[in-house]
Amino acid sequence: MGKVPAVQRPIVRTFKARFQKEAIAHARAGGHSVIWERPSKARLVFPTPAPGDIHDFGAWAIYDMAMQRWTTPKTGPFRGLSFVWVPRDCHWIVKRRAERDSIHPAPTRAVAFDCTDCAACCRDNEVILLDEDHERLVAGGRADILKKPFARRGSDGRLVLTLMKNGRCHHLARDNKCKIYAVRPNACSEFPMGSECCLYAREDMLGLLDGAPATA
Ligand code: SF4
Ligand code: SF4
Repeated sequence: MGKVPAVQRPIVRTFKARFQKEAIAHARAGGHSVIWERPSKARLVFPTPAPGDIHDFGAWAIYDMAMQRWTTPKTGPFRGLSFVWVPRDCHWIVKRRAERDSIHPAPTRAVAFDCTDCAACCRDNEVILLDEDHERLVAGGRADILKKPFARRGSDGRLVLTLMKNGRCHHLARDNKCKIYAVRPNACSEFPMGSECCLYAREDMLGLLDGAPATA
C-alpha cells in the first residue's frame, strides 16, 4: 500500500431533517450527507463536482445508484453544494454507506488501495466499449479486442468486453495487472480508486469493507 498515492474519500453520514445545518457543514467539509426529510424521502448532499473532473467522488456516488444528474442550487441553504433525491430502491445503499462509515470520525478519510492486490472491478463487470475506445484500440493496433472472444454485442447493441468463465476479464493477468493497460477502455481508466463504485466492488467481490474485513 505504501507506494499507492492516497486519496481523500468522503465519509457518509445520515442526519434527521432537523439537523440540516450539521449535514450541510459535513458536506462543506468534504463529506456526503444523507438527510432524511421523512422515512421515505432522503436527500444526498455532496460537494459540487468540479466541471470536467471525471474522477469526482460525488459524481461516482451518484453513478453507483445508476443516476447521471444532480442539482446544484444557486440560492438557499444548499448553495454551492449539490444534491440528489435518493430513489427509494437505493435507500439501502445510502444506509449501508453510512453504516460502513460510522467508525470514521472525520468528514473525509485517506485511502490508498493497491489495485493489483484487488482487481475487484475487473471481475463480473461488464465494461462497455465506447467510440473513443474503438478509435484508440484500432490506432494502437489492438482491433482484435473489439471482436470475439474479447468482445460481444449486448442485446441493446452496445459493445462490451466479455468475461472468462470464472468471471475475470479476459485481459486480467494472473498477477492482477491489466494486459491492455495502455489502451484499456475509458470505463476502466476513469474508474476512481476509493469511489463508492470501487468500495462496493471490493465489498461485493472480496468482502472488504474499506480495507477491513466485512462483518455480518
Ligand atoms: S475496485 Fe478499486 S481498488 Fe480494486 S482494482 Fe478497482 S479501482 Fe482498484
Ligand atoms: S480491460 Fe483491464 S482494467 Fe478493464 S476490466 Fe479488463 S483487466 Fe480490468
